[in-house]
Amino acid sequence: MSFVQIVVLAGGTGGARFLRGLRAAAPDAAITAVVNTGDDVTMHGLRICPDLDTVVYTLGGGIDEERGWGRSRESWTVKEELAAYGADPAWFGLGDRDLATHLIRTRMLDAGYPLSAVTAALADRWQPGVTVLPMSDQRVETHVVVADPDTGRQQAIHFQEWWVRHRAALEPRAFVQVGVDDARPAPGVTEAFASADAVLLAPSNPVVSIGTILGVPGLRAALLASPGRIAGVSPIVGGAVVRGMADRCLPALGIEVSAEGVGRHYGARAAGGLLDAWLVAEDDAADVPGVDVRRVPLLMSDPGATADLARAALSAAGV
Ligand code: GDP
Ligand code: CA
Repeated sequence: MSFVQIVVLAGGTGGARFLRGLRAAAPDAAITAVVNTGDDVTMHGLRICPDLDTVVYTLGGGIDEERGWGRSRESWTVKEELAAYGADPAWFGLGDRDLATHLIRTRMLDAGYPLSAVTAALADRWQPGVTVLPMSDQRVETHVVVADPDTGRQQAIHFQEWWVRHRAALEPRAFVQVGVDDARPAPGVTEAFASADAVLLAPSNPVVSIGTILGVPGLRAALLASPGRIAGVSPIVGGAVVRGMADRCLPALGIEVSAEGVGRHYGARAAGGLLDAWLVAEDDAADVPGVDVRRVPLLMSDPGATADLARAALSAAGV
């Protein structure tokens, strides 16, 4: 393959695995990952960026493969000690190895470095082989509007509290991106779209990963101005999520939990939407007017299958 530039919109686990396959499928390409930071949160005084860390750990060989997040060979001494003090919140898993990442990130942010510079510094250790950019240097935090289980009153809780503490059990009424109005695409994002030969939407959560990235003012317009074709990969296979909570998020936006529903939600680029092409599973029928829908094996079950999926996405994007 000749030298090509590829931009990928990515969340955590689905995004990271897809990127690993893409790196294998296109070893000579310049790949830029634009990663969701809406899940970011401050815990025990530390700034935590779950999706950025999942992408960098996965591509750098430091991920816990089974969990899909956090460090391999992790231990939990600090978490146990915090719990012994009764320190809140006790429901968030902070591993000892992982803590080093958050300590360095927090120290650099406190010293005035923007998140994009901090991310580059952390990636220097992991050598992910792709350029990893946060969607924005400004803080954007996803909150979930739910009914309080005790009082029934509406309240907004941080996405992490909804997902990790409540295991997504509370019915989400809406997702709100706090801070998004003041956000801008991080340095390098707009430039990456402008020189991309292809833009790929990873099979990430369409609401709280891809949707949050697209909500950064100016980012969607920059994406649509890209000379590259835009191909998306469905995170929904056979009407269900492969992993995660997209099936809990999509209905809150009135989107059907199907490859067709998500494809129509993204919409045809020719009709004011995003997609030139949409990859769905072999057994899924998806009619998305104006979009080149392709049926391919969609499960990232092993490195070979994931690389094949990435190749199919590149081919759908015309590179
Ligand atoms: P998160 O930030 O960790 O939730 O990860 P992402 O938003 O990047 O990805 C979550 C999505 O990845 C879920 O909606 C899953 O259905 C999807 N996903 C996970 N594994 C696979 C897979 O093997 N194939 C496909 N097509 N989607 C997957
Ligand atoms: Ca995430």
